[in-house]
Order: sequence, then structure tokens, then C-alpha cells
Amino acid sequence: MGSPRLLLLASVASAGRVYHLTDIHVDPIYVVNSSTAAYCNGPVIKNASLQAPIFGAPVGDCATPEALYDSALAFMADQPAADMVLFTGDFTQAGLQREAGADSVLDTIAATHEKLRAALPGVKVYGAVGNHDSYPGDVFDFPYEAGYGHFAALWDVEGDAKNATLRGGYFSQRHDDALVVISLNTNYLSMLNPLVKDNSSAAHRAGFDMMAWFGGELAAAEQRGDVVYVLGHIPGESWLPAHSLTYQRLMQRYAATVKGQFYGHDHEDYVRLTRECDDATCTGSATGVVFVGPSLTEGWPSENPAVRVYVTDGNYTVEDALTYTADILEANEKGAATWVLEYSAKDRLRLDDLSPRSWEKYVALQLATNESAFDDHVALRRRGYRGPRSRSSGDRCEALTDPCAVDLLCKSNFFNDADYAFCVKN
Ligand SMILES: [Zn+2]
Repeated sequence: MGSPRLLLLASVASAGRVYHLTDIHVDPIYVVNSSTAAYCNGPVIKNASLQAPIFGAPVGDCATPEALYDSALAFMADQPAADMVLFTGDFTQAGLQREAGADSVLDTIAATHEKLRAALPGVKVYGAVGNHDSYPGDVFDFPYEAGYGHFAALWDVEGDAKNATLRGGYFSQRHDDALVVISLNTNYLSMLNPLVKDNSSAAHRAGFDMMAWFGGELAAAEQRGDVVYVLGHIPGESWLPAHSLTYQRLMQRYAATVKGQFYGHDHEDYVRLTRECDDATCTGSATGVVFVGPSLTEGWPSENPAVRVYVTDGNYTVEDALTYTADILEANEKGAATWVLEYSAKDRLRLDDLSPRSWEKYVALQLATNESAFDDHVALRRRGYRGPRSRSSGDRCEALTDPCAVDLLCKSNFFNDADYAFCVKN
């Protein structure tokens, strides 16, 4: 143990930067200048004559070419040193299994991690399992030895955390004197995994076991005086109602311990709020902020790629969220991607700080009532992308009076499907 002064210096030194990389969806069979019909998702583009551009085709519902991932990593390597990378799932192209099978999914996951390590040597990488990180996608049996053995070898986990990863694809790992990183495997919470819907399955039971374990880990962290980052992939939607309720009760109970919740899956950039619960619903005051990280991938929907950086204080409180992006159309035209700061959440959204209370105020007093704040939010969700749009992009959400606005606001306001659905109806 060092002296209090040395400990203070150590904790000040750890103030800094946390990368959040999500939904990178790297496509190992992307061939530049080939027809996008050869590799993109879905039947809609099968007859398209689009030629695959170097950094990806946002209009074709495509995945991420290596060139885009490489350019993002080169940008990250060029930035001031980071404390860690939170890598919240969906490492491979969504449709990859159709083409190449299970080995290709696991090989792509390994290759993307190796590249990240090479770009940021010595920086810890904590992962979360995405719904596309299995073969076939969405289906996660329990156990799933081939997949979790792979993740246990790739992520910075050891001891009990490694064993937990091997068992269920989730873990609790101490990062340093202050911070514990807990990664949940949301494939055992979400009904996207068809096995979770079958309440006699091992996968169904695994979700309940994991949530019980999660509660124990949070209690232990609180008792030790640690703070916690929670990672996951699917941010609430399609979870079994019991898990949504348990999760939000835990976020309420351990609001002082949990310093951040980081997810992915939706590809768009926004936050969701966890709230105080009564018996069956969670619609009280905000207890936590769920950062749904912007995806690196440029497809599904059409958007610009993104890398997120959280600026933290010495005790891992998130003080700002910086989003970096590259204009995909310009990058393809010039043959080089230029990464720039798109916005600072604190400055652009005029937040007092990044606490649940401030986000709650922002959603209620700006986003829900102010047309220009709403327009800005819609543009930020897809990092200012203004080009042609793929079918998965949906209708453009133009105004607060559009039905789509209700959907966006209710999703920001409420974490679980039932409270969201009630909000949309009313
Ligand atoms: Zn994804």
C-alpha cells in the first residue's frame, strides 16, 4: 500500500480516456469494386449494380470493409493514450454465417482483436458478446464452449473472470484499485436468442443465473468501495421482462457504485435511462445512463462510422462523451478517411454534467420540446450522414410531430419494453 498522497496521485493519473468501440461488423469477404450484391445483407440489394467502394457502401446495407476498420484503428492509435477499450460486441458481418460458417465468425473476431491490440499496445480491451458473434447468429446455447473459449483467450480477463467467460461469456474483472468491469452476456437476457424464449432450456436458466451473479458482484463491489462499469450488447429491448426489472432494480440500488453502462447493437448514437422501479414498472427518476454506442459500421442503417471516447475523472465518473466520425461518402471519393470530432455531448447538448439527472433534464426539457434540439439529435444519431439511404434506414424522422419522434423519445426515456410500449401508446 502506498501513502495516501501517492494513492491520490495514482488516481489522478488514471483520469483520462476510455474508448467505446461497438458493432464493428468487419466483413472479411468484402471485395472492393465487386458488386455489392455479392456480399451485402438481405435480398433487397441483390439486383443492385452498386460497386463496393473502398470504405463501405452505406446505401447497400453492407458491413464494414477492412479498410474502414484499419482507418479507425490508425486514428485511435494517433490519439492521446487511453485507459482501456470497451468493445461491446458484434465483431463480424451480420450475414457472414451464410457465406462462410462458424470458423469464419470466430476467425474474424480473433483477427479484429489482434488488429486492435497491435494498434493500441498495452491498452486493456474488455469485450461483450454480441448477438452476431455466434454461428448461426442470435442463437446462443448454454454452454457454448467454442465461442466462449475464444473470447476468454482474446479479452483481458484472468482468474475467476476467465473462468466465468469460459462458462457463460460474461465476467467481472478488476481493472485497477478503483474500477471493476462487469460484462453481461445479453444473449441470455434477450428473446432475440430463440432459446431464451423456451423456459425449459439451459440458455433460459443461464440468464437468471447471470442476473443473480450480477447482483452478487455489485453487492461485493459496493462493500469493497469499488466503482463499476457495466458492459453489454443489447440495451434492454427484447429482454425478458423479469430481467429488465431486475436490471433496473440493481441500477437503482447500486446507483452510487455503477459509474457507467455501455452497450451497442442499435448502431445509432443515443442514450437510454434506467429508472426507479415500483412493483412492475420502472418509470420513476433516472438512476443511470445507458450509453448506446455509435457503431463503427456504416451500414444498417446508412450512416457515418463512429468511434466514441469517454473523458473520465480520477474515479471513473464520465465527464464527457466525445464522438469521432469520418464522412463515408467523402472518404470513398478521396480514397482516404478523415476522422474528426463530431461533437462533445457536454457542449453540444448543453449538459451540466453527464449524470442521470442531467440526461433526464435534457430529454424532458430539450429533446422532447425543442424542435431544433430534436433535429440535432436525429442528425447525431447517424453522425450527420446525408447521402442516399438503404431500406433498413426507415423513413427520415423530420419533426417532433412525426410518430417516429414518439418512438425515439420513449426509447430514450425507458429501458424496458413494457414501459416503452406504454409510453408510445400514451
Ligand atoms: Zn450490430
